[in-house]
Amino acid sequence: MLTVLSQHTSDTNRDRAYADLRRRFADWDEVADAPLPALARAIRRGGLGPTKAVRIRAMLRGIRESSVPLDEHAFTDTPDQRLWDTLVALPGVGPKTAACVLLFSLDRPFFPVDTHVHRVAIRLGLVPPRADAVATQAAFQESVPDEEMYALHMNLIRHGREVCTAQRPRCSACVLRDLCPRVGVTSSR
Ligand code: SF4
Repeated sequence: MLTVLSQHTSDTNRDRAYADLRRRFADWDEVADAPLPALARAIRRGGLGPTKAVRIRAMLRGIRESSVPLDEHAFTDTPDQRLWDTLVALPGVGPKTAACVLLFSLDRPFFPVDTHVHRVAIRLGLVPPRADAVATQAAFQESVPDEEMYALHMNLIRHGREVCTAQRPRCSACVLRDLCPRVGVTSSR
């Protein structure tokens, strides 16, 4: 929910919209059944109310139709794979968003691949050069131990932002230099 509300707005306005939404409706079932104008009004402080209202209602109805109840404990009682299947089947939710929700919000072992992780993985030869983000995510998901997913994900993002940057990777300062097949390469990938 916060992921949808955070689109094209600040964290402050996202949080205001979320608080307004929770105040206006008693529970998530009520949100799922709400008329779109009422839902849009409730989240208007986050911007793009009508657009986000459509997505939020569709997501909640999609979750409910997959037989996951919309209560506070629903996701804690649902197995990993079922949660994954439910999330990626929702409109507008791709593998990266689903993995982020599962890893960061629900503490489930899923490996999100953003642009930094994707780039670093290719440069280090962890995946084939033409692997797309979805294939890269599948490779990490299969090979990284559950307990290491969070730390590896965070470290790869930091490495991609601070050292193995898109345009000018700082290979001379890189601690992975001796392992990297692309030392000195300064292309955009
Ligand atoms: S050596 Fe260079 S290309 Fe390889 S991971 Fe480090 S910064 Fe990236």
